[in-house]
Amino acid sequence: MTDSKKQDKHQERQQKLKEKVDAHVESSQIEKGIFQVITGNGKGKSTSGFGVVTRCVGHGKKAAVVQFIKGMWECGERNLLEKSGVPFAVMKTGFTWETQNRETDTQAAQEAWQQAKKWLADDAIDVVLLDELTYMVTYEYIDLDEVLTAIANRPSMQSVIVTGRAAHRKLTDLADTVSEVRNVKHAFDNGIKALEGFDY
Ligand code: ATP
Ligand code: MG
Repeated sequence: MTDSKKQDKHQERQQKLKEKVDAHVESSQIEKGIFQVITGNGKGKSTSGFGVVTRCVGHGKKAAVVQFIKGMWECGERNLLEKSGVPFAVMKTGFTWETQNRETDTQAAQEAWQQAKKWLADDAIDVVLLDELTYMVTYEYIDLDEVLTAIANRPSMQSVIVTGRAAHRKLTDLADTVSEVRNVKHAFDNGIKALEGFDY
C-alpha cells in the first residue's frame, strides 16, 4: 500500500472512531457521583484509588481516606495527602494475615467504619476512598448490608472507591465501575523486596 493510501485508510478509521466516541459522549448525560470497586489479585488497586484522590485534590475538591489495613510500612500517599488537607482514618491494630484477634480487630474495624459513615454522609466530601474494605466484609468485621446502605444513600455527587481482593458480589453489583486487576507477575515472586516509594 502506498503512503497516501495508508494515510487515507488511517483517516477513515479515525473518523469512524471519532463519530462513535462523540455519539457516546453526547448520550452520556447523567451527572452523579461514581462508585468504583477496584479488586483482583494484581498490584495496583490502592495506588489507583490514591490516584483518584490526588486527581480530586488537584481540582480543588475534597477527599477523605479510610485505610482498613494499616500496612507494615509508612504510607507515602498519606505523608503527601495529609499535607494537602486530606483527612485519613487508619484502622488501629496491626491487622495482618498471621495474627488475628477477632475481638480487637472487629473493634478497630468498627471504629474506622464509624468515621467512614460520617464521611459517606457529608456532602462537602467529593471522594471517599475505602482502602482494603473488602476484607472487613469477608471477615465479617463490618456488616455488608450496612456498607451497601451507607454507599447507596451517600450524597448524590459524592464518589466512593472501594479497594481490596475478592470484592463481594453485592459490592460489585452496586458499583458503577468495577475494575479487576489481574496478576500477570509480581516482582515479589522473584524475591524482590518491597520498595519504598514504589510499593508503599
Ligand atoms: P498497591 O498498593 O501497590 O497498589 P494493591 O493495593 O493492588 O497494591 P494489596 O493487595 O493491597 O495490593 O497489597 C499491598 C502490598 O502487597 C503492596 O506493597 C503491593 O506491592 C504488594 N502486592 C500487591 N499485589 C501483589 C502480588 N500479586 N504479589 C505480591 N505482592 C503484591
Ligand atoms: Mg491495596
